[in-house]
Amino acid sequence: MAEFPADSILVLLDITPSGDLAKSSAELLGAAASVGTPVALAVGGDAPEIASTAGDLGAAIVLTAAGDSSLLTLPQVDALSAAASLVRPDAILASNSVEGRDVAARFAARNRAALCADAVGVSRDAEGVVAHHSVYGGAYNVDSAATWGAPVITIRQGAIEARAEARTPEVETLSVPASGRPAASIESVEEAVFASSRPELRGATKVVSGGRGLGSGEKFALVEQLADVLGAAVGASRAAVDAGYVPQSYQVGQTGVSVSPQLYVALGISGAIQHKAGMQTAKTIVAINKDGDAPIFEIADFGVVGDLFTVVPQLIAALEAKKA
Ligand code: FAD
Repeated sequence: MAEFPADSILVLLDITPSGDLAKSSAELLGAAASVGTPVALAVGGDAPEIASTAGDLGAAIVLTAAGDSSLLTLPQVDALSAAASLVRPDAILASNSVEGRDVAARFAARNRAALCADAVGVSRDAEGVVAHHSVYGGAYNVDSAATWGAPVITIRQGAIEARAEARTPEVETLSVPASGRPAASIESVEEAVFASSRPELRGATKVVSGGRGLGSGEKFALVEQLADVLGAAVGASRAAVDAGYVPQSYQVGQTGVSVSPQLYVALGISGAIQHKAGMQTAKTIVAINKDGDAPIFEIADFGVVGDLFTVVPQLIAALEAKKA
């Protein structure tokens, strides 16, 4: 049985339906390493392969559990409960993905633990691990911490830059007593195959988004062209979605996807509070808008006041020339 360091941070890794480690693992382990010793928990998937990849991403110890793949999130909650009582961590980190949020909330409710949702960073003070959040459309930064016990913190995808050093992890199989609690059962899993070769919006490092300023679905192709030159994911404002230029899955903002990329390019987007809510934590924001008073310029690191149909083709040509 592994000795768990006193500063252990238990990290629940998301496993994809095809059994691989989710992309969020690198940042979860990076965040954990910045405040303690990362102890990873993986439920399902090919245990040896997952443990070795988790080690490459900085896990000092990897706990693996088989899990019943016909039950929705209950095996993860049971495994996390078993792991937490074994490891006695200073904090528990999970991805703010649909699965991660679900497991974190069920675990917190069951174990009467504090839940700090959608953090964009973590740190440590004299009393323990603190979660940092960007709220009200990024207008305020707030910190949350538990008054007692280890906090359960879900981490916004794409928000953490820190990466942990690779290690050769100790690997252990976790024995998980089944709680027998209610669970939805999974009848079938069908992986949505995107025809696009572009990165997925959630968790992308670069995003190019278009707004109502594009004027039509056909003209929205310009957003996609710039995204392809930059190797970026494509996003949109709600106005562009409501006008039918692109599907709802592209929507960035309060009622869409939250992104925290290294680069966010906003084309023909005014910068309404609800849009900013989903992208204000981007590291570098570039805006192109013909209205110099558009609120997007208040948060942009670089802004071009001009007609996007003139500026963007020139930008694409310049980027392509640089590549050649
Ligand atoms: P507009 O505000 O119409 O801005 C278009 C911009 O394009 C203008 O600034 C204009 O100057 C510029 N422009 C026009 N032509 C050109 C050109 N040729 N070249 C350069 N610039 C040009 N919005 C979201 O995005 N995401 C959300 O999740 C979201 N959730 C919401 C939830 C609620 C409850 C509510 C009430 C609203 C929500 N909204 C959301 C809507 C939001 O309030 C705005 O209406 C929306 O973001 C506006 O989109 P837009 O910037 O594309 O359009």
